[in-house]
Amino acid sequence: AQERFIAQNPKSKAIHERATESLPGGNTRSVLFYDPFPLSITSAQNATLHDADGHSYIDLLGEYTAGLYGHSEPVITQAIIETTKKGLNFGSHHEDEGRLAALVKQRFPSMELLRFTNSGTEANLMAIAAAKIATGKKKIVVFANGYHGGTFLFAAGKNSPINVPHEYLIATYNDLESVHALIREPENARDVAAIIVEPMMGSGGCIPADEGFLEGLRKAADESGAVLIYDEVMTSRMHSGGGIQSQLPVDMRPDLTTLGKYIGGGMSFGAFGGKRSIMDIFDPRRPDSIKHAGTFNNNVLTMAAGRAGLEQVFTPDRAQQLHAIGDKLRKRLQEIGRGTLMKVTGVGSIMCFQFTQSSLDRIKSHNDIADSDATLSGLLHLFLLQRGFYIARRGFMALSLALTESDLDGSAKAVEDFVVEHRQLLA
Ligand code: PMP
Repeated sequence: AQERFIAQNPKSKAIHERATESLPGGNTRSVLFYDPFPLSITSAQNATLHDADGHSYIDLLGEYTAGLYGHSEPVITQAIIETTKKGLNFGSHHEDEGRLAALVKQRFPSMELLRFTNSGTEANLMAIAAAKIATGKKKIVVFANGYHGGTFLFAAGKNSPINVPHEYLIATYNDLESVHALIREPENARDVAAIIVEPMMGSGGCIPADEGFLEGLRKAADESGAVLIYDEVMTSRMHSGGGIQSQLPVDMRPDLTTLGKYIGGGMSFGAFGGKRSIMDIFDPRRPDSIKHAGTFNNNVLTMAAGRAGLEQVFTPDRAQQLHAIGDKLRKRLQEIGRGTLMKVTGVGSIMCFQFTQSSLDRIKSHNDIADSDATLSGLLHLFLLQRGFYIARRGFMALSLALTESDLDGSAKAVEDFVVEHRQLLA
C-alpha cells in the first residue's frame, strides 16, 4: 500500500522533500506527519480536499474539530472578506470581541466572564495560571493520555519534556479512586490548585467520561479546594453546541472552561473563562489586576468569523443535528467492526478507530487501549486515502457541517471493505 502511495503522489513527495531543507522533517505541526510523507493539500471546498497531485478526498478529519464549518462556508467567507476590507490589526478594542464573548457565554453559561487567546494551548496556560493565582496552590491534577495543547501532553501518563513546568499529579481517566488517592496524599492535600479534564478524552482516543465521573471530579475539586477546569476545546460542539457540560446539572459544572478550535470560525482561536470570582482578577480596572496579554487575542478576523459562525451557521438546531449524525455514523461503524479488533469510540460528531482486544464498553482509559495497533490504523489510513477519504493516521475523525449523507455512506462502505479485506489481520 505504501509503494502505491509513493507512486501516486510524486508532487506531494517533492514538496515534502523541499520543506525538509528548512523545517525539521518538513514539518511544523507534529501530528500532521505520517510515513512516508504527508499529502500536500492545495485547496478545499465544502467537504472536499484537493492535493498537489490532483487527487481529491472527502474530509473526515475536519481539522481535528476546528473545521466544523467545512471549507469556504459562504457566510464565514463573506464575514472574513468584509472584515479584511475594513483593515486588520487596529491595536484597539472593537465591537465584535464583546459580541463574540456574549455568544460564547450564551452557550456556556458557566463562563460568566471570559477572555480570548490565540489557541487552545494558550487558553489552558491562562486557565491554569488563573487557578494557581485564585487558590494560592501549586499542583495540577491531569489525566494520563490527556492532551491540553503542545505544552500539556501526558502521553500514557508521562510528563513530556516540553510541558510547561507545573507540578503535575497524573491520574487515570474514568477512575475517581486514582484522583482521590492523589489529592488525599498528605503532601498534596493542601496544595491542589486545579483538576483539568477533557469531558471526553479527545486526542487520547475519543474516550467518553463515564456516568458519574465528571460529578465525582466536581466533588473531589470541592473537597480539596481546587479549581475544576473543563477543557472543552474539542467537545464544545457537542449536543446543542454548549459542550458536554450542558448535559450536567448546573451545580456540577466546572469553575473554568477552555475553548478553541471551530469557535473562531476556522481562524486561530482560544478562550478561557468561568466564575466571575476567578476571572475578575483580569479586570484591568483593578489596581491589583493580573495582566493577560496577546497581540492577536482580539484579532478582527477571528472575532468576525467566530461571530458569523455562531450567529448564523452553527445554530443550536444544527449542532443537535450534527451530534445525531455523528452518533448514527459511529453506531454503524461499530457494527461493521463487531467481532473484530476494530472499535469505534467517541461522542456525537467526534470519533476514533481503535484496534484493540478491549471490548467497546471496556474502553475507559489509556490502560484499555495500551495494546492499540498503530500498524492497523496506518493500514486503515492508507486504505481510506486510496478510496478518497481523509482521516488522521491514528484514526481520528471529526465530522463537519459540509458532509453529505452520501459522503457518510461512502465512508462507511469504504470502512466495511477494509474490514472484509483485512478479516484475518483484524481477527
Ligand atoms: N485541548 C484539547 C482538548 C485539544 O484537543 C487541543 C488541540 N487538539 C488543545 C487543547 C490545544 O489547542 P490548540 O491546538 O489550538 O493550541
